[in-house]
Amino acid sequence: MSETTYTKIHGAPKADLHVHLEGTISPELMYGLAQRNHVDIPFDSPQAIASAYEFRDLNAFLQVYYAGLRVLENQQDFYDITMDYLKRAHAENTHYIEFYTSPQSHIERGVPLAQVLDGIFAGCDDAYSKWGIKANVIFGLQRHRTEASALAAIAQAEPHSSRIIALGLGGPERDNPPSRFVRAFERARELGWRTTAHAGEEGPADYVSQAIELLRVDRIDHGVAAQQNARLVIALAARRIPLTVCPVSNVKLKVFDKLEHHNARYLLESGCVITINTDDPSYFLANLTDNLYQTSRALDLSDDQIFQIIWNGFDGAFCDDASKRRMQQALNEYWHG
Ligand SMILES: [Zn+2]
Repeated sequence: MSETTYTKIHGAPKADLHVHLEGTISPELMYGLAQRNHVDIPFDSPQAIASAYEFRDLNAFLQVYYAGLRVLENQQDFYDITMDYLKRAHAENTHYIEFYTSPQSHIERGVPLAQVLDGIFAGCDDAYSKWGIKANVIFGLQRHRTEASALAAIAQAEPHSSRIIALGLGGPERDNPPSRFVRAFERARELGWRTTAHAGEEGPADYVSQAIELLRVDRIDHGVAAQQNARLVIALAARRIPLTVCPVSNVKLKVFDKLEHHNARYLLESGCVITINTDDPSYFLANLTDNLYQTSRALDLSDDQIFQIIWNGFDGAFCDDASKRRMQQALNEYWHG
């Protein structure tokens, strides 16, 4: 059993590279925004929302997830959700965050993109000056929509281009292969964005290969299905393409039946650049420390392996190299000091 304590992991400088802003909303904030915006949600208290987070099935999950989306109506709401999460992330010593946001779902609901992005950017700026936590934004396309919709959303984002760190791809994987979004990823590179895509979560190893070869991504979100193809695992390790693994999410969504059966340790020991992240921390009831600690216990990771995984979180980040080195130095001093 891993000897590294929860307290040690909690105190370590950490990075979360795979967290959906819309999946960070707390029951209190969801309830508060519903009241403020006069949005009708099927919950009459923060406690009712909290118990819905213990969802038993996909339907219960979707009910609370869509309620969480509908309460986000304007720039102030996006500012509040960003600040609210960064405050909690700072409290567990996360130093660096890359937020996915899903602009297409907000545009579809009639919320102007500028309000979404300006609210998030202002939250990131204020959190940095208040608490020193740095956050960047990933413009997350939804793969169940068309490439035309993706290109239209990217076009709308161009005035804000310099503040967006990367293009991402999320949403239901099955029957929505990465190959459908080649032009969107080309456009992102023209804009100077880095690139990442969800692949090999519920989808096959082939989707991981497509994301690398066709979308030419810098990073893979999840990627656990790569294990189905030994040559792919070797290639991921040789090319040092980071995998943003989310172990608690994988168990909640039944990608693995229990944490003890997760392949994070196998991928790490195969030489892959594994990072551990939260995905939707409010809905899965696990923050970054919980994800790292529970995985380390379930897979009996050594102290060095846990250090390596946290270190990889900074290696895989899209921020500048000087910031990465500074955060890694802080981690090294904390862990070994
Ligand atoms: Zn995700």
